[in-house]
Amino acid sequence: MKSYRKELWFDVPSRTAFINITGLVQECLEASGIRDGLALINAMHITASVFINDDERGLHQDYQRWLEELVPHEPISRYLHNRTGEDNGDAHLKRQIMGREVVVAVTEGRLDFGPWEQIFYGEFDGRRRKRVLVKIIGE
Ligand code: ZN
Repeated sequence: MKSYRKELWFDVPSRTAFINITGLVQECLEASGIRDGLALINAMHITASVFINDDERGLHQDYQRWLEELVPHEPISRYLHNRTGEDNGDAHLKRQIMGREVVVAVTEGRLDFGPWEQIFYGEFDGRRRKRVLVKIIGE
């Protein structure tokens, strides 16, 4: 069995963003030489997510509004977590909603997606360098 590991780095200038990382993961898969197996892609930070859905602008705006309605950034005093002196209590909860990782089947050397599926990095407390781990195993 082959194994491949790579960290993808992101430095998002805004507090929140959704970035399509499908092409970067495909490059990892090509570099791995793996034709059949599994790809795990996970955020390595507790205020960021990796998830799969459609690459559609309206949907991303809907996520932003929905998440902000559920867990607004302000007032920051709303979150007990922020008593630590941080202001990212909402970002921890948004990450919990949007998830930590995805696993994608690898078949005949390609990511075996359903229709319209794309992989996204979701940032909820940006303006600093953060990582995504790509781990691919197979043959
Ligand atoms: Zn925090």
